[in-house]
Amino acid sequence: MSKCEQITAEVLQADIVIVGCGAGGMSAAIAAKKAGAGRVVVLEKLHVTGGNAIFPPLPLADDDGVPRFACMDDNRVRPGDPRLSPDPKVRADANFTCAMEWNHWRGDARLIRTLADKFETNSDWLKSIMAPEDFIPSPEDMRGKLARVLVQACKNAGVEIYCDTPVKQIIKDEIGQVTGVFAEDKDGKRLEVTGKRVIISTGGFIGSKELMERYFHSYDENIYDEICYMGLKHTGDGIKMALEAGAASDGTVAFEWEMNRMPWLRNPASPLTNLLNNDMNPGVIWVTPQGERFADESKMNATNSIYRLKNKTFYILFDQGQKDKILTEGPDFDLLPEMLRGVDLFGGVEPEIKTQLAEGRMKIADTWDEIAEWMGADPAVLKATIEEYNSFCDQGHDAMFVKRPNVLTAFRTGPYYAAKSTLAMLVTRGPLKVNTKMQLLDKKDEPIPGLYAAGVDIGGTDSDTYACSAACHSIGWSLASGRIAGENAAKGGGR
Ligand SMILES: Cc1cc2nc3c(=O)[nH]c(=O)nc-3n(C[C@H](O)[C@H](O)[C@H](O)COP(=O)(O)OP(=O)(O)OC[C@H]3O[C@@H](n4cnc5c(N)ncnc54)[C@H](O)[C@@H]3O)c2cc1C
Repeated sequence: MSKCEQITAEVLQADIVIVGCGAGGMSAAIAAKKAGAGRVVVLEKLHVTGGNAIFPPLPLADDDGVPRFACMDDNRVRPGDPRLSPDPKVRADANFTCAMEWNHWRGDARLIRTLADKFETNSDWLKSIMAPEDFIPSPEDMRGKLARVLVQACKNAGVEIYCDTPVKQIIKDEIGQVTGVFAEDKDGKRLEVTGKRVIISTGGFIGSKELMERYFHSYDENIYDEICYMGLKHTGDGIKMALEAGAASDGTVAFEWEMNRMPWLRNPASPLTNLLNNDMNPGVIWVTPQGERFADESKMNATNSIYRLKNKTFYILFDQGQKDKILTEGPDFDLLPEMLRGVDLFGGVEPEIKTQLAEGRMKIADTWDEIAEWMGADPAVLKATIEEYNSFCDQGHDAMFVKRPNVLTAFRTGPYYAAKSTLAMLVTRGPLKVNTKMQLLDKKDEPIPGLYAAGVDIGGTDSDTYACSAACHSIGWSLASGRIAGENAAKGGGR
């Protein structure tokens, strides 16, 4: 991602100060400028811009009349689903309903309605800030494109971005109005950046052991480094600062997992990742280190079942027959191939398998006994699991976990494959309490004058489990909340 300026003065006067140069922060900055704000300054802790927006792909795929700019996370959405309706109102209704169902109505319904509605305008908004030649990036250019587009749009709009400038504290005056922030330069020297509106968008707390321990009930220090591997390890700075400044917690925190993949592959789009991923390849089975199945592997949300496992470790199993089938026929869903125009999903899988074999994370064997031995499982248990699963496939009915029949494929063609895996946590969501203008609320539910939040730091959107069936909910709602925060901050009014 692009590098940026550093602050040299001890005091810098701005109108709007934005903490965090990711999706939420940059969209807030651009929206504020477009709404007529004066000096808008974005302060970024890292040496580079973009935050976790460097990861999601950016196809602006609305040729079919469905505006969206990254993935529809639920690949099993079929044509005819209201989330794919050409009517944005129908889509917004569907996404709202979907998000509320996922959070069991523990989310803030007005907030979610606002975000679902704003989300529908994200594509048009993005197009308004992008060069037309960027609308359909090449497959090689897709990943990270969103971050690059936002950085460029900030520059075009006259937003100032300063890197290596971690914000440490929100400053308020004696009547509680926010007046700016204290930050540090790269040498640790204190800087003051003044501004009557401050927007917090620091990307969650996956990198904060303290907050993880508080909110992640299955927290386990031993596996922490392995599961929190794929994204940037943000430390919840904005959340901590906002709570110190009197903000309330909404009480809802969710953890966004990558659908099951081997997190150590890092690249979420690698061919081996695609082969192992239960959403791309729901015919795989998952077993515990003891060799027993524990989930309907075809369910996107089955990733949550990994929470329950000791050390969150499990094995993904498949056979040569299934591997050949997926590599030749492709994945079993309608939407993604069209979204990932021209991307070779599985090409180059063999060298990746070779690497994992060499690193001891995969095993290929002619018998399940050898696989069991490698896993440290009792061969009799694994054999029973495979036999039972094969019988379910023969009957077309998974009598244990009711996996959908069309992905039940018996494992009878050797060699057999096993890949060691665990959870891959991407981002946390919540818990700062905001209203529909993205103003942070205090413990009396009153807006804190001048203080806003955007992106995944805000709570009230998900409860426990990330609503991965709501269209492009994560990055999409970061953009939507950022735009709303920026527009309201620019309008002025501390409250
Ligand atoms: C591997 C991966 C793949 C993903 N794929 C998808 C996808 O396909 N679809 C989707 O919808 N979502 C996806 N997401 C999620 C999406 O990227 C995030 O939801 C989104 O980027 C969050 O935006 P944000 O602005 O809240 O945080 P970020 O974009 O992470 O930005 C936060 C910024 O704040 C900065 N910061 C932190 N503390 C401070 C401080 N004290 N001072 C100054 N700056 C600070 C950080 O360095 C960072 O730059 C993915 C995430 C990952 C990790």
